[in-house]
Amino acid sequence: MKYYNLKDKEEVVDFKTATIKGQGKEKGLFFPEYIPLFEKDFIENLDLYTDEEIAYQCMKDFVGDEIPSEILKEIVSETINFEIPLKKINENICSLELFHGPTLAFKDVGARFMSRCLSYFLKSENKKVTVLVATSGDTGGAVANGFYKTENINVVILYPKNRVSEVQEKQLTALGENISALEVDGSFDDCQNLVKQAFSDIEINSKLFLTSANSINVARWLPQQIYYLLALKQWKKTEKDKPVIAVPSGNFGNLCAGILAYFRGLPVEHFIAACNENDVIPNYLETEKLQIKETVATLSNAMDVGNPSNFVRILTLFGNKFQDVADMISGYSVDDEKTLAAIKNVHEKYNYLLDPHAAVAYTAMEKYFKNNAKKGFILGTAHPVKFPQAVEKAIHISADLPKSLELLMKKEKKSIEISPDFAELKRFLLTEI
Ligand SMILES: *Cc1c(COP(=O)(O)O)cnc(C)c1O
Repeated sequence: MKYYNLKDKEEVVDFKTATIKGQGKEKGLFFPEYIPLFEKDFIENLDLYTDEEIAYQCMKDFVGDEIPSEILKEIVSETINFEIPLKKINENICSLELFHGPTLAFKDVGARFMSRCLSYFLKSENKKVTVLVATSGDTGGAVANGFYKTENINVVILYPKNRVSEVQEKQLTALGENISALEVDGSFDDCQNLVKQAFSDIEINSKLFLTSANSINVARWLPQQIYYLLALKQWKKTEKDKPVIAVPSGNFGNLCAGILAYFRGLPVEHFIAACNENDVIPNYLETEKLQIKETVATLSNAMDVGNPSNFVRILTLFGNKFQDVADMISGYSVDDEKTLAAIKNVHEKYNYLLDPHAAVAYTAMEKYFKNNAKKGFILGTAHPVKFPQAVEKAIHISADLPKSLELLMKKEKKSIEISPDFAELKRFLLTEI
């Protein structure tokens, strides 16, 4: 498979280059040259395949012969080696629980696939790479865990001091080895600015090969299709009609992966773009105007994005035809008050605990169902224990800590404090890595 840069169609690269570079010239996103369709027989008989076989079928065309099939099979098996159950919340709404991986958020899937592909490619190159990433919470943990002890790769994570939850912080700081956590005395935007400066600094780039691990990277984006297939396999056990799917969205990588799977032949009735008060896309779907906004801080902090980078890929999938986009996707914006109310109501009525991100999706789906008598599922993107403050605020009790987390919480935090001053990051990268 070849990938072209959406900002410069002349720039065409293979999967390996797209994975190592992350993005193209002018920060353009890479996009597959063609959409490989699923065999009809495969989609109709998902129940005859194991989850690993489904994952392999899903990914093989995007990787081609750049990774031998035996190794790709191992990679996809490790990518999904935790359960991804579709759980019933009530008569009409299920939740696809994507939070049973090592860092309790769906980002584990993309991070595990990407880290293994990158590691495979670097073996033959004899190259050392530094993954530099800024996080507002979940990305850092998934990336740290995905790349932990991976040969030839160092990971440097910048996170804003006092602005991530305790669980999130431990996931970034307690691993050690090839993972360094820089605790920045500033905001997430400061962290992101420092990372951007590092990517354009000549001296750093002459000494280190830097790459990013955010959802712009095709190796993080594409494997997210896998669980839409795994969801459908489970859905078809009890349901005849196609599902409506609500995706809690920030940078829109997750929704975009679902739409890609739909264009390849996955049966989906309708998609719901569920957003918090950062409502650029719901506004666009209503007005056809894309107005980038300043980010507002909300309870569902992983979706606090004012300029969603993957949306351009969604438009490309629909051939840039606004009406087609608007026919297939409905957008809703849900504020913090309604988010808390949903956590409370769903817990009381159905004894099911939503995290704030899934609560946004649940509320959006209920709104959509007011005018459309359908059934569907939401993507449960994070475990509620990752957001204890919001959960406690909503139901006045705290969520139980899973066993894996109890161990982690006992480990020592190891971070290096820096001020939001590029000179400090630069000194660290040039002398410590
Ligand atoms: C990152 C994240 C999202 C947003 O996903 P996008 O692919 O950026 O739209 C939603 N929920 C949780 C818990 C996340 O960590």
